[in-house]
Amino acid sequence: MRFGPVLAAALLLSLTDAVAGDVFPTPRYLEYTGGFSECAEVQYVEDAGITADGYFLEVTQDKVVVKYSTPGGRLYAGQALDALKRVSARNGKAGEGKLPCCVIKDYPRCRWRGLLLDSGRQYQSVETIKKELDLLFSLRMNVFHWHLTEGLGWRLEIRKYPELAAKGAFVSEGPGQQGYYSREDVRELVGYAARRNITIVPEIDIPGHCEAALFSYPEYGCFGRRPEIPQTGFTDCIFCAGKDSTLEFLKDVLDEVCELFPSEYIHLGGDEAPKGNWDRCPDCGRRISENGLKDSRELQLWLSAVMASYLKTKGRKAIFWEDVISEADYPLPDNVVIQWWNYRRNADRNYRKAIEKGYPVICSPNRCMYLNFPETPWRGYGEDRTFSLEDAWSRNPADAALAENNPLTLGAECALWTDYGLTEDMLDARLFPRIYALAELMWRGRTGNGDFCVAELND
Ligand SMILES: [Zn+2]
Repeated sequence: MRFGPVLAAALLLSLTDAVAGDVFPTPRYLEYTGGFSECAEVQYVEDAGITADGYFLEVTQDKVVVKYSTPGGRLYAGQALDALKRVSARNGKAGEGKLPCCVIKDYPRCRWRGLLLDSGRQYQSVETIKKELDLLFSLRMNVFHWHLTEGLGWRLEIRKYPELAAKGAFVSEGPGQQGYYSREDVRELVGYAARRNITIVPEIDIPGHCEAALFSYPEYGCFGRRPEIPQTGFTDCIFCAGKDSTLEFLKDVLDEVCELFPSEYIHLGGDEAPKGNWDRCPDCGRRISENGLKDSRELQLWLSAVMASYLKTKGRKAIFWEDVISEADYPLPDNVVIQWWNYRRNADRNYRKAIEKGYPVICSPNRCMYLNFPETPWRGYGEDRTFSLEDAWSRNPADAALAENNPLTLGAECALWTDYGLTEDMLDARLFPRIYALAELMWRGRTGNGDFCVAELND
C-alpha cells in the first residue's frame, strides 16, 4: 500500500469514485499489512489517550480492535470499517467480504467542522435536511449551523409568540419560501443529528435580517410599523434595542431555543444590521445616552453583550458574525465566539482582531467557503463571486488561517446560503464536488505535495 496523489481537481469522476470506495476524508495514517482478517467481531475499547473524534483501528488475521475516547471516534471507526469492507469487495475473491488487515490512526485537524444551511430565505423539507446530515456524517463533519431566521422567513415555532411561525413563515411568495419547523420537527432533527455525532447550532439573527419577525410583531421594531419584506438583501427595519419589551421578547425566544437545542453554542447573528432606524428612534437614543455609549454601533455591541450574558446564565455560548466587532470595541462577555466571514470586504482583519481580543474564532471566509457561490456565474453571482474545486483546495483563506494552529481557532465552517432563489433541488449542485475538498481540509489538511490524495489499495 502507498498513499498516491491519485486525484487532480480535473478528475471529478475519479474523485467521486474514490470517495465512494475508500476511507474518506483521508486518515492521517493508514497501512495495509497484508491479507484479510478471519475475525468478524469488533472489540471496542475506550482509551482516554485518543483525541476527541479520533480513533485507532487495527485489523489482523485474528482480531479487529477499535480504540476511541468519544462517541464520535467510535462512530467514525465504524465508518472506516464499512469503507474497508468496500475495499475488500473491490478485490473480488481475495477478500470475499473480509476486512483487509491494516492499521489506521486518525484524528481531526479541526474540532469544529461545520456546514451552514440557510433555511430562512428558502425552506427545505425535514427529509432534505436529514439527507444533508447524512452527507455531513459521511464526511466526518460535526456541526450543522441552522440559519432559521431571515427577512424572507421565520422558520421556528415559538410557543409564546405563535405569529412568528403563523405569519412570519409565509411572508415571501417565491417557490419553496413558505414553511416552518415545528417543535417536533426540531426534536426529530436534533436526535437524528446527534446519532451521527452532529450538533445542530441554531441561529436566531439579532438585531438584523428580521423583517419576517417584525411583520408578525411590529411592536418590537423601532416605530411599531409593519415592515416591507425585502425580496433581496436587507433593510434597516431591525429589532429595537431601546425598548425593554423587545429585550424581553428576544429572551423569551432564546428560552425556547435553548429548550429545543441542547447545543453548547447558540448563534445570535449580528451581521448586516443598518442603523438608520436606531439613529432616529427615541428609545434607542435613550438607551445610548443612559449607558454612556458612543453611537448606534456601540449600541449593537451593548445589545449583543446583553443577549450573550443571558445565554451565559443558561450555560451556553454565543456566536456572532464578525460584523459585531468590526467597527466598535465595547466589551463582550467571555462566552462569545466570533465567526469570520467577510473576506471579500475585510480580508482577514476581523479574524485577527478576534484572536487579538481573545475570542475563539470559526473560519468561514466568503472566498472558497461559501458554497452558494457557484462555479460559474449565475443570477446575482458574477465572475468575481465564483470558485472552483481547485480554488477550494489550493487557494482557501480558511486553510491558511487553520495552518497557523492558533488554539483560539475552533475550526472551519462552509456555508450554503439560499439567496437569489437557490431552491432545495439545487443544493447538491452547489455542494458537490467542492465540499469534498473542504471536508478534507477540515479533517486532515493538505498533504506535503498539495495534491488531493486518497488512500488506495495497491497490491
Ligand atoms: Zn429603537
